[in-house]
Amino acid sequence: MEKIITRFAPSPTGTLHLGGARTALFNFLFSRHHGGKFILRIEDTDRTRSTDEYTQDILGALTWLGIKWDEGPYYQSQRMELYHQQAERLISEGKAYRCYCTPEELEARRQTAREKNENTRYDGHCRDRRDQPGLPFVVRFRTPQAGATSFTDLIHGSITFVNSEDNCLRRGANACMIRVVALCVLEWSAGVEGTQMHLRSAGTTDWRRYPPPTP
Ligand SMILES: [Zn+2]
Repeated sequence: MEKIITRFAPSPTGTLHLGGARTALFNFLFSRHHGGKFILRIEDTDRTRSTDEYTQDILGALTWLGIKWDEGPYYQSQRMELYHQQAERLISEGKAYRCYCTPEELEARRQTAREKNENTRYDGHCRDRRDQPGLPFVVRFRTPQAGATSFTDLIHGSITFVNSEDNCLRRGANACMIRVVALCVLEWSAGVEGTQMHLRSAGTTDWRRYPPPTP
């Protein structure tokens, strides 16, 4: 059997809650049972809401519960350069593109869609738009617009979603590609499979802006 690696990745935007403790405990025990490894990652890319006090609270609570992590804690925020590099790589490979729509333009189009009772997901406005050097942008994944995406989840079984109907699970100003790219990069590097939620998030909208890279 392949080595089991589990992880717990709390966001330090609050104290450890019961659901988080349950997840941490389950993952810790599951990795122990299989002689595997348990990794702790602090998901602190939301800089406006993450605090050191909450991080310390979470670490203390896990220790109090008797949970010992084999690796980490890794701090997502310390790896931003890596995520920017990966975002640029995806763009250069045609797997992602820059979107220059402003929040006001996006909201206006969403409002129009709501009035027509249509899907408010991002409409692909910038998929084939030329680069606009110097303008702020977000990075969007160039996911298929037709067909369906299927994969096998060990818990949920066969999962299929229609690409044209996929909805964003991470809407709003705090949703960010950096966060999703960060999750994927770290999970690849840690040898942990991505989740259904991240796969679905990867195909969707509204990533937080980050400044254009300096030339
Ligand atoms: Zn756009």
